[in-house]
Parts: sequence; C-alpha cells; structure tokens
Amino acid sequence: MAAMEVVNDVHSQLNATTVACIERPQSLADLIAIVMRARQTGVSISVSGGRHAMGGQQFSSGATHLDMSALDRVLDADPVRGLLHIEAGADWPKIIAASHAMQTGADTSWGIRQKQTGVDAVSLGGSISANAHGRGLLMQPLGDDIENLTLVTAEGNSLLCSREQNADLFSLVIGGYGLFGLIYSATLRLSPRRRLRRVVDIIDLDDAVNAVFRRAGEGCVFGDFQFVIDTQDEGFLKRGVFACYKPCDDDATEAPATADLAPDTWLKLLKLAHDDKRTAFRLYSQHYLGTDGNCYWSDTMQLSTYIPSYADFLDGMRIADGGAGAASRVKETLVIGEHYVPRERLLAFMEQARAILRRFGAEVIYGTIRAILRDTVSFLPWACGDYACVIFNLRTPHDEAGLRRTADTFRALIDASNALGGSFFLTYHRYATPAQVEACYPRFRDWLALKKYHDPGELFSSDWYRHYRDAFAVRARAAA
Ligand SMILES: Cc1cc2nc3c(=O)[nH]c(=O)nc-3n(C[C@H](O)[C@H](O)[C@H](O)COP(=O)(O)OP(=O)(O)OC[C@H]3O[C@@H](n4cnc5c(N)ncnc54)[C@H](O)[C@@H]3O)c2cc1C
Repeated sequence: MAAMEVVNDVHSQLNATTVACIERPQSLADLIAIVMRARQTGVSISVSGGRHAMGGQQFSSGATHLDMSALDRVLDADPVRGLLHIEAGADWPKIIAASHAMQTGADTSWGIRQKQTGVDAVSLGGSISANAHGRGLLMQPLGDDIENLTLVTAEGNSLLCSREQNADLFSLVIGGYGLFGLIYSATLRLSPRRRLRRVVDIIDLDDAVNAVFRRAGEGCVFGDFQFVIDTQDEGFLKRGVFACYKPCDDDATEAPATADLAPDTWLKLLKLAHDDKRTAFRLYSQHYLGTDGNCYWSDTMQLSTYIPSYADFLDGMRIADGGAGAASRVKETLVIGEHYVPRERLLAFMEQARAILRRFGAEVIYGTIRAILRDTVSFLPWACGDYACVIFNLRTPHDEAGLRRTADTFRALIDASNALGGSFFLTYHRYATPAQVEACYPRFRDWLALKKYHDPGELFSSDWYRHYRDAFAVRARAAA
C-alpha cells in the first residue's frame, strides 16, 4: 500500500488527483476486505483499470484507490459455448490471448466480438463501466457481450449479477462508472474468430450513410469513416477513408495480416496531424488504400497502435521544433469527445460541427465516425437509438485559453447533437453542464437516486460523481 499519491488519466493527463493510498488487490477476498475496512473507517473507495477515462470517473480525492491491474486471471472457459470468465483487471491483449487458448480442436477458434478502437490497455472492468464499443456496424455496446458479473457490493457481499439474477444491479453496473460496486470478474461471450477482408474507399460524407448500409448489406461486419481534419481543406469533415471488413472465411489459405501501422509510422502521422494535416491525410489514405483487400482476423484486427507515452513524444517534438523557448511553452495533450446522432441526421450534425470547430478555432487531430445499435442492456444508456457516433480528438494546450476552447467546443457539439435527437459519451470529460447531462441522459436523476439506494454511505465514489451529484442537487434546489 502506498500513501498519499497523485494519480492521473493516461490520455489527457488533466485529472491529477491526490488519493489517500493505492491498493493493488490480488483476490476476491482482498476486495471484500478492502470494502469491509472502508465501511469501518468511512474512507471512500475509487477504482481504476487502465485509467483511460478522462472525466475523473476513476479517481476520488482523499479516497483509497484500487488499482485492479493485478486481477487478470482466467477463472473459467467454456469452449463449447464460447464463454470466458476472467478477472476484471485483464486488458484486451490478455483477454484475446485467453480466448485463443480456449481452442480445443481445429473446428472453432474463439475471439472477442468487440473492443475499443483507439486503445488496447484498457481493462474489462473499465470497459464494462463505460459500456464501451468498437467499430461493429451492427452491434450494441459491450454490455450486450456480458453474460454475468461478480460484484462486490457496498455491504461487502460478493454477488453474481446477470440478466436473470440481480438483474437491476447488472444493468446499473454496465455503464455504471464503478459507483455500484467493484467488478471482480465477468463472463464475456465470444464469437467464432473469422477471417475478414478489408474494403477501402475514399468517399464523401454525403454517401457515407448509404455506404454503411450498402456495405452492411454486402455482409460487412465492421467499419469506420476517418475524415479530413484540415479546416482549410474543402473536404474538412466531408471527405474520408471508409474502411469496412467483410467475412472471407473461404479463403483459408491466406495468412491474415497483423498490425497495420508500426509505432514509428503512427508517431510520424501523429506529428503530421499537428503540423501538416493535409499531408497527414494523404499519407493516411495512401496507407489504407494500400491495405485494401488485406485479410485480417476479426479479433486482432481490432487491436490498435497506441503509445501511452505519446504525450511525452509530443512534448519532445515541441522542444525539438521550437528552439530555446520551446521548453517553457505550455504542455498539451488530446481530449476526446464522442457525439451521437440518429443516422439520418449525420449530415446535419457534421455541417454544424464544421461551423462549431471553426468558430472556436478548435484543432482536430483525429476524427472518425462509427455506428452503434440501441443499447437494450444498461440502465443509463448512451446509445438510446441506432446512432452514428462522431469522435473528435482535440488538441488541448493545458493553459486557460486551451482548456476553455476544448470545453466550449465540446459543450457546443453536445448541444448540436442533442438538438438533433442525439447524445454524447460521458466517459471522455466532465465539461457537459448538468442541463446537458439531463437532456441527453433523461434517467440520470433516477440513476443518482439508485446510487444512493445501493450505496447509501457513498463508499464507492469519484470526483466525477461528486461533481454531477452536487450540480444536480443545486439544480433540484433551484427548481424547488
Ligand atoms: C485513446 C482512447 C481511445 C478510446 N477509444 C474508445 C473506443 O473506441 N470506444 C469506447 O467505447 N471507448 C473508448 N475510449 C474510452 C474508454 O473505453 C473508457 O474510458 C474506459 O472506461 C477505459 O477503461 P479503463 O480500464 O482505462 O478504465 P478506467 O479509466 O480505469 O476507469 C473507467 C471507469 O471504470 C471504473 N472501473 C474500472 N475498473 C472497475 C472495476 N473493476 N469495477 C468497477 N468499476 C471499475 C472506474 O471507476 C471508472 O469509473 C477510449 C479512450 C481513450 C483514452
């Protein structure tokens, strides 16, 4: 146990939080003991996996912080039904390796159905708690792939939660941001691993929605559209690389390709996305067109190149480029926002997004559009309909102007998506006003009430939770 430590999220590095201590539980018994101790001392608990959420959901000032990364063992595997029971601290590379180890004969090999697109070092517990999604064309978020969870509750009980047992908690914990208990383990439903062929087009957004339906009609199961990020380019947020993946199980002779972008190429493109967006898009499209027709495995294709220390790389690049004064220039990282709109309103949203990004002078370093099906599992769904998901990674200097710009831009984008009948993802920041949260998550008030019902002492807490709990209390008082 380490005392008084500062923790932070990996990607934005904007959530430095001092916690009372960090514990690394090794077993279910450890989790129960930590909860029982917290009940006696009254010190709350925050819990993290990969620390990639960016709104302070995984940290609570002054709390006992649980780092779940040591809990990553396989507990059970059912190769007949394709079910993997694994501890919640496991990240995707470990989960994928465990699913491959389930292969018993030549007939079926198992793989995950979906994972996040831009990052691998996220835990199963963190992914369930955000109800993450990948780039499936016809998939609900991850909660749909979860058969059951073993949860340690605020009373220190270990409970099995599924659609049949403790179903209310099951739906609260999925997308529950660690506030309803500690997820010790989960049973993940896998799908047979398939060979997929990549199909790449450079298209205009006007055609994107139709193209998704066309490709889905042809049998494609995954896909995304990565758009031009250069505000000066007439294709800004209009033109993009549309990459889809179509099953090609019959071509069993071809060895599937592995990772696409080597880390140094990835870093080079990232640097160009800062300095020369036009060239970045040209090289990126060339790279993708060059992989058209390649064959991939359906699970490992979803792994991505992500270098956690890339913020340090950008810092180094800034210093190298900027001469003597550069070292004193302000630190910067990327902050992500994800906005949802009904698919038929995508063009209208992108039109407004173009205006908003230009108005605030926000700089997009990476942007993509994906698809999601309505979430029928979680109590507080972000996918309230069959949506198009629009993701912006914004360059964010850590000074007042830079932080304000990013916050204002995301708030304006939330208003735009909500006015079109859509929503936004809670996991990426806490810039959204309480009014925006309530408009996009109409059950948020009930969700807060259920939090108090299941955890009256607020043993499980976070700075993100307290921020919205208090803001909603102020709103309720004002309304009264
Ligand atoms: C670069 C990048 C790319 C991303 N791409 C995608 C994407 O493609 N799709 C997508 O859906 N999301 C994406 N995300 C968001 C990501 O899926 C979520 O933030 C996810 O929660 C991160 O998992 P983690 O293990 O890092 O969780 P953490 O950040 O550690 O925690 C997130 C939440 O989960 C809770 N939690 C963690 N472990 C447990 C546990 N065992 N029990 C109970 N609660 C727990 C925490 O308390 C916290 O509330 C991306 C994020 C980044 C930074």
